[in-house]
Amino acid sequence: MSDFLSWQVGEVQVTRIQESQESGMTWVLGDAVPENLKPICWLAPHFIDEVGEAKWSIHALVVEIGDRKIVVDTCVGNDKNLPVKFWNHLQTSFMEDFERAGFHREEIDTVLCTHLHVDHVGWNTMLVDGEWVPTFPNARYLVAREEWDHWQSEDDDFTKAVFSESVDPIERAGLIDVVEQDATVCEEIRLEPTPGHTPGHVSILIESKGEKAVITGDQTHHPCQLAHPEWGSAADFDFGQGIETRRAFYARHEAARTLVIGTHFATPTAGRIERDGEVWKLVVPADA
Ligand SMILES: [Zn+2]
Repeated sequence: MSDFLSWQVGEVQVTRIQESQESGMTWVLGDAVPENLKPICWLAPHFIDEVGEAKWSIHALVVEIGDRKIVVDTCVGNDKNLPVKFWNHLQTSFMEDFERAGFHREEIDTVLCTHLHVDHVGWNTMLVDGEWVPTFPNARYLVAREEWDHWQSEDDDFTKAVFSESVDPIERAGLIDVVEQDATVCEEIRLEPTPGHTPGHVSILIESKGEKAVITGDQTHHPCQLAHPEWGSAADFDFGQGIETRRAFYARHEAARTLVIGTHFATPTAGRIERDGEVWKLVVPADA
């Protein structure tokens, strides 16, 4: 019996490899305080804890179709020198868990980063004998053009810290492909532009045998935003565009009955969007 969450979408298999889970996310989502979350009754028990704090997760998703093996978002990573106390020199069993789930890093053919923030690019690289080397040496790392272009002009200390260890070594190894924001990865998988959190942010759309799923990325950090699409993140590049993106995303995927797999959603991590008056809610399987 596997302890890894997974979902079957037609012929596509999606498996979650979790790096960490936490309670409390007001540092990224200022409105997500217990007094705001408790009235949203469907958030309990999965997405808020006993005192009403937001529960969230950092995880990678491995998407398999045929002989393709794709990793979506690569978490924070081990050993990184980061000016964020709880992520600095992180040590987790992520890579051991990845292997335990039956994956080998050499078999991964594609890495998709929904955007280039610190908690989505970490395991792009790993520290070997004091050097940052690509974790997935045989993969192409796909980044949307708008995202790539945006970060070229950012040179603050935080960006430099993240890029020097988690992005630049991949570029030097020649493994980055800059692609269109709606690029097709293979017949079943394509990028869906969801800008706002970052300029080139993408969600990942999966369609197979009439079934449909989408991996959110960080345009939605927590399911509470379905009830309050106007709640944005302190880290949003364009706050207003983020709101527009969320509203359109919820309406589109509610209508399509898409399985929504949240990049930071706590266990059970996936559900379907339903209308809830003027806004929306996430409905998870009854046995979750
Ligand atoms: Zn994130």
